[in-house]
Amino acid sequence: DHVLVTGGSGFIAVWCVYQLLERGHKVRTTVRSDAKGKYLQDLFKKYGDQLSFVIAEDLEKQGAFDDAVKGVDAVLHTASPFHFNIDGDPRGTLINPAVNGTRNVLTSIHKHGKDVKRVVITSSFAAILDSTRKGHIVYTEKDWNISSVENVEKQGKDQEGPDAYRASKTMAERAAWEFVEENKPTWDLVTINPPLVLGPILHQVAAPEKLNTSVGFVWGLLHGSKKEDDLLAPSGNCVDVRDVAYAHVEALVRADAGGNRFATSLGPFVWQDVADVIHADNAVPSEWKKQVPQGKHGEGSSVKQNELDGSKATRVLGLRYIQMQDVVKDMVASLADYEKRG
Ligand code: NDP
Repeated sequence: DHVLVTGGSGFIAVWCVYQLLERGHKVRTTVRSDAKGKYLQDLFKKYGDQLSFVIAEDLEKQGAFDDAVKGVDAVLHTASPFHFNIDGDPRGTLINPAVNGTRNVLTSIHKHGKDVKRVVITSSFAAILDSTRKGHIVYTEKDWNISSVENVEKQGKDQEGPDAYRASKTMAERAAWEFVEENKPTWDLVTINPPLVLGPILHQVAAPEKLNTSVGFVWGLLHGSKKEDDLLAPSGNCVDVRDVAYAHVEALVRADAGGNRFATSLGPFVWQDVADVIHADNAVPSEWKKQVPQGKHGEGSSVKQNELDGSKATRVLGLRYIQMQDVVKDMVASLADYEKRG
């Protein structure tokens, strides 16, 4: 089958492209520059013309995806801004590209993707978690983030970056389900809702400051961003990028996945858990270890925090989660490689 991946240059998307190629699919991907497309073709040169790319610079430009969707059997829509810089207006930099971009891709598929049978969208735990809810909550796919969306109207340009990002993901996912409801397309929809995505990098990064947000947190940890006291602060849930990619790919091929949201989550973590793996790993460069506080070894699991239940993805998609030790080891090794490349 032929699969379109939007935003193939992203941290998660490159792993999706890789796993699709490995399984023998033909992949077309959209990127924002020729250089990013060529990087992917070089990275995956052993797959030859199984991989092609087209440029789609602007998610919001009407018709930008019309050509890209022609002739493919499925679409995996991952492209969406993931940052917290709202620059005075959360709509311009976060919400509009996420929401209009999603609608735009779906409209192109509806009009021109006559062979498309399934669309998988990278949503987020951000579209599930509602930070105004109190107490210990085990979130599932049935939950929706209500408050961040209300805050878009209430707080306008005073909305904080992380909350605006959460609103963008919620509104984009809602827009996708509404699109299906209203247009009754010939394809069905699946969303993948990961929490913080960690794990090894494959994508091109011009400079460490350009690392995507979740990887940037770990890069920061390795370069002194965390103090002793930060390590036991509740930090949310996490998952390995390879598992997130696996869920996207399985969701494309399994008939019974259609119409579902899938939370892909290893479970709650704190930075202490990450620091513990780093200090125990002989392969981690000593100059990095020195920058990572020791904290209180083994105390991470004593921190109580909300959970995202990832068991439906195991039941329906067969996802077996990579454990924290390997998530962190492989991630730090890939960052050490990246640094060596300069
Ligand atoms: P990246 O920043 O690496 O990837 C984002 C992708 O979207 C890139 O291909 C980027 O293109 C593209 N993109 C961003 N903004 C625009 C825009 N305005 N117009 C066109 N393309 C754009 O991050 P991730 O791989 O982490 O994110 C991929 C998806 O996963 C996003 O939808 C994100 O919300 C979601 N997600 C990520 C999580 C995480 O922890 N990483 C957690 C949960 C969900 P370019 O390379 O040219 O910048």
